[in-house]
Amino acid sequence: MRNSLLFRCRSLYDQLDRFLDGEMGLWEHLLVKGHLMMCPQCRVYLRQYSQIRTLSLQQQQEQLPPDFEQVMGPIVARWKSEQNS
Ligand SMILES: [Zn+2]
Repeated sequence: MRNSLLFRCRSLYDQLDRFLDGEMGLWEHLLVKGHLMMCPQCRVYLRQYSQIRTLSLQQQQEQLPPDFEQVMGPIVARWKSEQNS
């Protein structure tokens, strides 16, 4: 029964980012889902991991300076006009 988990928990941990970002192929995605169905340990890990990920994504956004758009706007505009010329 253990061997029918298809791959080990550790290799699943390495794939979680791609799983959560939806960057996996269908077959890979199904393998992960299948493992999660059979492995309560990984279900708990996935839940905790996605919570931490959400938190750190929010923090990254909050760390942007309030004048980020003002600073970046002209730079992006110049870059675009250089690309066009
Ligand atoms: Zn597992």
